Amino acid sequence: KTQPGWVAVEEFLTDSVVHPDGALQRAVQSAVDAGMPPIEVAPNAGKLLKLLVQLSGARRVLEVGTLAGFSTIWMAQGLPDDGRLVTCEYLTKHADVARANVEAAGLGHKVEIRVGAALDSLAALQAEGQEPFDFVFIDADKENNTGYLEWAVRLGRPGTTVVLDNAVWEGAVLDPSLDQVNAPGIISALQLMGEHPQLDATVIQTVGSKGWDGFALALVR
Ligand code: SAM
Repeated sequence: KTQPGWVAVEEFLTDSVVHPDGALQRAVQSAVDAGMPPIEVAPNAGKLLKLLVQLSGARRVLEVGTLAGFSTIWMAQGLPDDGRLVTCEYLTKHADVARANVEAAGLGHKVEIRVGAALDSLAALQAEGQEPFDFVFIDADKENNTGYLEWAVRLGRPGTTVVLDNAVWEGAVLDPSLDQVNAPGIISALQLMGEHPQLDATVIQTVGSKGWDGFALALVR
């Protein structure tokens, strides 16, 4: 099978098992309507994030890269009612669309969107002395991946779960010339995850509506 087959199977799995609700479908459509790039995670990946939040017993989630709030809503749905999710987004337009989607999903009380360069927002979180995050999802500009990973360790605690999206990038991890903007940051992040004394990690390859890609999963030691 190639791309059309992977997409057909993904649609079957989404309809039969994943069941994204109306709020999630609205988030995807709102991004299309606002002319934003369709680069949210696939529904089965979003559901995986929700389940990982629940499996890890997370009460505090940190996200880097909000877009229209699709992954934000999945993860917030996995949090208890008094849980907290802080998500960092560079573009005001994206943050505004995401805020409306989060409110429409009835999750406004759990979610805080911080607008600006994520490296600045993450430094501010530390300066504020916030409680450690239990779960971190990294899905923004790939150039800063290693910086985001270092912040995930710093703002986490032993036992924190870290998920890093786009870990395969159509195989560009083996041939950075395929994407000179994004591939170097992805390769550096994988190297850091393999070597970091406080991270124990694996990487899963995926195919589907987002092409050939993958995600890395790590535990902070
Ligand atoms: N996690 C989202 C989802 O699955 O629904 C998708 C996020 S999208 C792949 C990446 C987002 O990161 C975009 O909205 C982009 O504007 C944002 N971004 C890019 N560079 C950033 C930066 N330096 N700081 C914060 N956000 C950034």
